[in-house]
Amino acid sequence: MRSLVWFRRDLRIDDNTALFEATRHADDGVVGLFLITATQWQEHDDANEKVRFLIENVRDLSEQLAKLNIPLLVKACDDFQSVPSCVSKLACETGCDTVFINREYEVNESNRDDRVSLACEQAGVALRRFHDRTIVPPKAISTKEGKFYSVFTPYRRVWDTTSRETFQISPRPSPQPVIPIDRDPVPESIPGFDFSNTRPDLWPPGEEEAQRRLVAFSNIISSYDVERDIPSIRGTSLLSPYLNIGAISARQCFSKADQILETSGGQNEGAKTWISELTWRDFYNHVMVACPRVSRHQPFKPKTNQIPWRTDEGDFDAWKSGRTGYPIVDAGMRQLNQTGWMHNRLRMVTAMFLTKNLLIDWRWGERYFMSRLVDGDLSANNGGWQWSASTGTDSVPYFRIFNPFSQSKRFDPDGLFIKKMCPELKQVPAKSLHDPVKLSQSISTLEIDYPNFIVDYKAGRERALSAFKALK
Ligand SMILES: Cc1cc2nc3c(=O)[nH]c(=O)nc-3n(C[C@H](O)[C@H](O)[C@H](O)COP(=O)(O)OP(=O)(O)OC[C@H]3O[C@@H](n4cnc5c(N)ncnc54)[C@H](O)[C@@H]3O)c2cc1C
Repeated sequence: MRSLVWFRRDLRIDDNTALFEATRHADDGVVGLFLITATQWQEHDDANEKVRFLIENVRDLSEQLAKLNIPLLVKACDDFQSVPSCVSKLACETGCDTVFINREYEVNESNRDDRVSLACEQAGVALRRFHDRTIVPPKAISTKEGKFYSVFTPYRRVWDTTSRETFQISPRPSPQPVIPIDRDPVPESIPGFDFSNTRPDLWPPGEEEAQRRLVAFSNIISSYDVERDIPSIRGTSLLSPYLNIGAISARQCFSKADQILETSGGQNEGAKTWISELTWRDFYNHVMVACPRVSRHQPFKPKTNQIPWRTDEGDFDAWKSGRTGYPIVDAGMRQLNQTGWMHNRLRMVTAMFLTKNLLIDWRWGERYFMSRLVDGDLSANNGGWQWSASTGTDSVPYFRIFNPFSQSKRFDPDGLFIKKMCPELKQVPAKSLHDPVKLSQSISTLEIDYPNFIVDYKAGRERALSAFKALK
């Protein structure tokens, strides 16, 4: 028996459920497969940075699999339509009787896999699917009435017990019998994507790099609860791109943090908080499965479709390029544009600024983030945007609108981060960065080329409050 493992967003060898099960099934070798679906990636607004990172991780995976005598086939399939026949045909050509996959929960991906299952069945090949992306599988947690949790806190309470009772790490597979199939080269470029301005220096690929980051972070995890909100400090794990393409599993991260928590007798607040963030990741996957419309650009709360979202291209362009006149917002957007990543606190600040102060459609922002983020992930991105826009599950109440100046005063008091990302503000005293009147004075006295506020804070706030209050 021979297995075909179709890798998607699980680009690792350790703790990979489908890969491990494939090696248990096979006695005549294992073949790997990765499909390049470039047109589909473009339709999903994937960023150059994300696709570059993905392809480099495929290259690393191919090297690692070769050491286990598992050749990785890399085929171009363009879009999802052509995937079912491609997978079933390759399974037959390589003599595989079963295809192994780890589930993807997005609507398009999940429909594609149903069609692959049918095509395989018609070709006499079995398809086996596994839950692997989250710590607790979506749908494994429901209320006593069998309904899905749409509020995080009660979900987390059940998650805390379920995760510890059920999670299992799969062992690393042993080398397989050698088979007469050659691995494919991994292309250097992908049609429709431009890697020339990407940052491989910030996001080196590989399972080993992901593990190195986890170990490095575990040394500072104790201060995560305090430092995770300060963008000038490296206080978070920077693991999101690796988790997103599966160079590391969420279970491995949870296992590490839980060991630290246990060793501290449950006292390590940093580890506790980090586990909670991993739970948010599970939660948003759970929401996406329970409520597929969020995958289709629909708000979780349908009535928020009545909001007269503004479609002002000029304001939107100023926000995108970090020229709103609000230093903390501009610093966040510039970080995104320059590095493909943005600090979580700033993702909330910039998203809320766009959706509340500018009252621009959250879907515009969601899409722009996706087109830039190295860690762009439909469930987390959509969850974050709908939280900020007050259209989603367990989202921020619409009347709690972040004041960008209070946010920067609290989380960047010395203006270190602002001055790094907006060097034109270097000479502005820190206090003025957190005060609209003093900021305007400093800019005019120092004759700095920095934009005026694109929206008056109070007027923007009132406009958002009225729009939400008017909802029926
Ligand atoms: C508007 C908005 C958009 C976002 N878009 C994305 C996205 O496309 N991809 C993405 O991975 N995260 C997204 N997030 C969540 C969060 O900002 C990032 O996961 C985090 O900044 C990544 O940095 P880190 O790996 O250092 O995180 P850490 O603080 O070290 O957290 C560890 C891991 O937990 C998960 N996580 C942390 N916070 C969240 C959260 N709020 N929701 C879901 N998962 C979380 C991530 O996988 C992260 O890598 C978004 C948040 C907001 C508010």
